[in-house]
Amino acid sequence: MTTPSLNLVPFVDVDNMMRLVHAVGIEPFLQELADYVAEDFRRWPLFDKTPRVAAHSPEGVIELMPTSDGTLYGFKYVNGHPKNMKEGRQTVTAFGMLSDVDTGYPLLLSEMTILTALRTAATSAVAAGALARPDARCMALIGNGAQSEFQAMAFRAVLGVDRLRLYDIDPAATARCAANLARFGFDITPCTSAEEAVEGADIITTATADKQYATILSDNMVGAGVHINAVGGDCPGKTELHRDILLRSEIFVEYPPQTRIEGEIQQLDADYPVKELWQVLSGEIAGRSDARQVTLFDSVGFATEDFSALRYVRDKLGAHGFYQDLDLLADPDEPRDLFGMLLRAAPVARSA
Ligand code: NAD
Repeated sequence: MTTPSLNLVPFVDVDNMMRLVHAVGIEPFLQELADYVAEDFRRWPLFDKTPRVAAHSPEGVIELMPTSDGTLYGFKYVNGHPKNMKEGRQTVTAFGMLSDVDTGYPLLLSEMTILTALRTAATSAVAAGALARPDARCMALIGNGAQSEFQAMAFRAVLGVDRLRLYDIDPAATARCAANLARFGFDITPCTSAEEAVEGADIITTATADKQYATILSDNMVGAGVHINAVGGDCPGKTELHRDILLRSEIFVEYPPQTRIEGEIQQLDADYPVKELWQVLSGEIAGRSDARQVTLFDSVGFATEDFSALRYVRDKLGAHGFYQDLDLLADPDEPRDLFGMLLRAAPVARSA
């Protein structure tokens, strides 16, 4: 057991994040993280909420995602650059910080590239737990990139999904995804088209990356009773589903002002009715109404999910100690003597 030092900021780098995940176990980590995500959705009215601040460029986007529950403040820096993958880089990278609202002092700085994949998967699984048919065990996973195995593992941990139908335009991505998941006991079927992948699937997850209005799923591919977990459409001009699917689905979103800009529903009128996930999770409204309904979680990723993930990691630090102390805060003994502290740090002049 270790205790983070006062005025030194615990920093969880990529290496320590991976150690933490393995120390907890991948499925227990996703299950516990899902509990934190769901808990914060149930506290929804408490949070400061704003659509994320996005800086768009021709090839991608860089976003800041802040929120606070009044006690803790969190933000994430995240990018989305679909072309990166072809150049040997991640499409999505991220880091984030949690701070104390009372003092404004940072409490945690963390890598969030891995943590984003974990929190996105945990959030998808939380939504599907409320919206998919309870007997759903077979998932089509379309887009077999960096997020895909995390999605599979979270759906297994939270819902017991044990059959996967994989498809990617790049067969090498499907082969990698299948190989990485082989040891976890899934029944895996690699498919050669999205049409083939959705055959018999109770849940369809789309996690493709393309900076355009894509049609990964067309209306005829979605049968009665299916739950769609649409992860990849998360930017203006970047969607995955044909509009007709939206028109016959019950649509659930994270934070409507952000999703109307970034989600699948950017294809619909600005006042088209959608339901909010937090209301379902807090029991205010029903999720799925019957076994034949098509439900859609129009995921874009919201700041509270990153807040939940940072909160979870911080709660784990003491037990595991997988962090370094960062000297991030200038903190003179006399708070007003900041300049004096700088002077005392001057190199001692050498005598001739
Ligand atoms: P990635 O680049 O690692 O993988 C994307 C995969 O999609 C690639 O393997 C690519 O070959 C495949 N693909 C592209 N077009 C396709 C098509 N038409 N049919 C089938 N496969 C296709 O990206 P990633 O990190 O796995 O992210 C996937 C998507 O999820 C991105 O769009 C990203 O922005 C989004 N994302 C959303 C959230 C969220 O909270 N909703 C969080 C993280 C990432």
